[in-house]
Amino acid sequence: MATRATKRGDERTSLDGSRDVLICGASFAGLMVARELAGSGADVLVVDRYEIGERQTSACAIPTACLENLGLLAAEKQRFRTVLAHTAHGSTRLPVPWEFSTFDYRTLCELLWADCDAEFETAKVNGREPGPESEPIAVDTDRGVISAPLVVDAMGWKRILASGSAYQPPDAPLSRGLEVHPAGSREEFEIIINRRYVPAGYAWSFPADDELRVGVGSFDPRFHVRPTTETLAEDVGVETVGYQGNWIPHKLRPAIGGGVFFAGDSAGHCLPLTAEGIRPALYFGAALGRELRAIGDGRQTREGALAGYEAFNRRHQRAFDRLLTAQRILPRFPHRTVRPILATAGIRPIARYLFNRYLDIAPPGFLGPVRSTGPGTKTAAMTTLKA
Ligand SMILES: Cc1cc2nc3c(=O)[nH]c(=O)nc-3n(C[C@H](O)[C@H](O)[C@H](O)COP(=O)(O)OP(=O)(O)OC[C@H]3O[C@@H](n4cnc5c(N)ncnc54)[C@H](O)[C@@H]3O)c2cc1C
Repeated sequence: MATRATKRGDERTSLDGSRDVLICGASFAGLMVARELAGSGADVLVVDRYEIGERQTSACAIPTACLENLGLLAAEKQRFRTVLAHTAHGSTRLPVPWEFSTFDYRTLCELLWADCDAEFETAKVNGREPGPESEPIAVDTDRGVISAPLVVDAMGWKRILASGSAYQPPDAPLSRGLEVHPAGSREEFEIIINRRYVPAGYAWSFPADDELRVGVGSFDPRFHVRPTTETLAEDVGVETVGYQGNWIPHKLRPAIGGGVFFAGDSAGHCLPLTAEGIRPALYFGAALGRELRAIGDGRQTREGALAGYEAFNRRHQRAFDRLLTAQRILPRFPHRTVRPILATAGIRPIARYLFNRYLDIAPPGFLGPVRSTGPGTKTAAMTTLKA
């Protein structure tokens, strides 16, 4: 179990005060926003309840090009070209037209953070203080009230800074996933579509050099994944150690609300059907960071950034809806048809088409090296916003 290394006692000084930008959540989406703001001169504070990289939030599989483009290949653990898909009626190898990798969560977060020039503090965010959305937004934390004109919620599916939205499992459009992280090494990146483990969803075994990430994801939030994660671990012959699990959003949500910006799981940016959420969290985090940076550069107003980022979000609606439809329909097919469907999808030109269209929803080419690492000069635009 991860030990909590957050500040205690005297180290927990008050964070009361105001900043240009407050980013809540220091995982993929939050760190990506902060990274895009590096060198902008903005006074950026990032808060998380844990230290950066302390608590892994996923199995950490991603298209390799994302790591390459961000200059983060040092976090890579293992690389793959195919997915070995198992069903109750046989296995099929899916050729993927691009490489994908598993990576080390802590290393990736630390590398992203190394590119930032923001300040970081551990603090648990409790919610938003009531107030009009045009004012600096006040956020209540266990270390005081922090206010900022630009506030980002990158804290995951709970969307803590949204006002008045009750979005709770099992009624909300959330999937659930649980995995174990035993030591071990394997060659194959495997998924298992078998009702023995989950009626609607899939199980997986992702190797990461010296560790395996073995788990079950259910599209139905009412299905309890712990017993079948244990069955799967037993079948795969691994220990049930290092549990990691969470709810996973499978529906795109508005990326703004009440003057707050949302990125990653808080905006439902995790892709339905595959539950791939890291690439979209980085992608939407980068888009949001660029909008906020434009405010600092005086090229954009706060209102313009809110509208521009939401328009960018909405442009992805159809692609997310298509995947959600597939997620709803595919589990209804008779089980014996799953292997033939996979075999058809695995025919090389078909696989190339499907995987490339899928990749294009949040293309890795959108991600790039850090813009500036030097300290920037705060512009009039950012100063006026805070005043
Ligand atoms: C079992 C499992 C396996 C997965 N495997 C993959 C995979 O292999 N590849 C993939 O692409 N996706 C995977 N996903 C999905 C992926 O993990 C998420 O979509 C992704 O982590 C979203 O990134 P994020 O930055 O939005 O949120 P998160 O990574 O969830 O980060 C949220 C951050 O907010 C912080 N936080 C939360 N609440 C508070 C609070 N109150 N105060 C302060 N800080 C707070 C957390 O500590 C955390 O650092 C998996 C999900 C699960 C559950």
